[in-house]
Amino acid sequence: MAQRHMNIESSVKCLTYHQTSWAELCINGKAIQRRFPLDNGVQQCESTIPSSTSTVGQLDLLPVELWHATFLQLDLESLTMLRTVSRGAQRMVNGLPGYQYLLKHYGHVLCALLALGLGPWFTVQDLLDAVSHPDCTACGDLGVFFCFLARSRACYLCLRENPKFHPLTVERAKEEYGLNAKAISHIPVLCTIYSTDTPVSPLGGGRTRLVDPEVARQAGIAVHGSKQEMEKFVAARRASRMHHYGQQMNQPQRSTPLLTRPNIWGVFTNNDGEGDHTLRYMGVIYTPWFDRVGRQTETGLSCLACREDNTYFYSGPRHRHWVRLYTTGGYIGHIEECKKSQIKLTLLSNPI
Ligand SMILES: [Zn+2]
Ligand SMILES: [Zn+2]
Repeated sequence: MAQRHMNIESSVKCLTYHQTSWAELCINGKAIQRRFPLDNGVQQCESTIPSSTSTVGQLDLLPVELWHATFLQLDLESLTMLRTVSRGAQRMVNGLPGYQYLLKHYGHVLCALLALGLGPWFTVQDLLDAVSHPDCTACGDLGVFFCFLARSRACYLCLRENPKFHPLTVERAKEEYGLNAKAISHIPVLCTIYSTDTPVSPLGGGRTRLVDPEVARQAGIAVHGSKQEMEKFVAARRASRMHHYGQQMNQPQRSTPLLTRPNIWGVFTNNDGEGDHTLRYMGVIYTPWFDRVGRQTETGLSCLACREDNTYFYSGPRHRHWVRLYTTGGYIGHIEECKKSQIKLTLLSNPI
């Protein structure tokens, strides 16, 4: 039985392949670490810091367990600032349970999170919880993308198709949910990073501010008291703007500036207006899951038989989509639902 299991596992290598170019779709982890290093590179070399700065003042008097418990309540931006105080503070932060693990296996996520301006919205535990589970939170497949605003992993198909992972610009969120600047200041806002290493925004240059659609919707409901009141407010504002626009259009053209039709997007669509829906990739980083038990990084496997049967414009059942990712165990489960893989496996097991 053990022999047969090993044979199946080795056969999996012949029946699968690795997806290769997904890291290029979204924020490039390696480039982010080069461009936005932790502590802005100031604390990269401990030996260059004078030993006189190696204490943390009165914190030295506290038991380790106590300052660990205290530091774990801090958000990641505060922790990062604390690291810059002294060599001693840096050592204390580096010694935090969980923080060291994040630095070692998800350092690129940490650097990107801080660069995107989301440091105040995550603690060490928040980020650990979000990245430590391998599954896409929408469908359960292996998720190799981490979506900062959704605070969860996603697979490629859900990233493309599920509105949960499609951010809104701040302007669009204000329009859709009747939010004002004060309400926006109370929810996480991601400021996109522009460089040759990140996707190009369909909205042009500068940093685009993005929010999570569900968080923005909930903020709108909180501001207006209920979903119905929020929708009434948004509809009334749109009607008023259209009325005002109509009145101005009917006036004789004197020296008035060119009028722009009010933006009256009525419904949220999952399309940001670009063929590749670029906006959705601007708050996403490619992050294979680190398997603590197996001590290896899991990038996932895709089914060769499904790829042979699919085209780029695939419209068949989801379970046979060629971009799906599996762990080795997951792929063995997939064989049950993939007839062509079963035939290939039989041929491999009984070569002519
Ligand atoms: Zn998914
Ligand atoms: Zn298959």
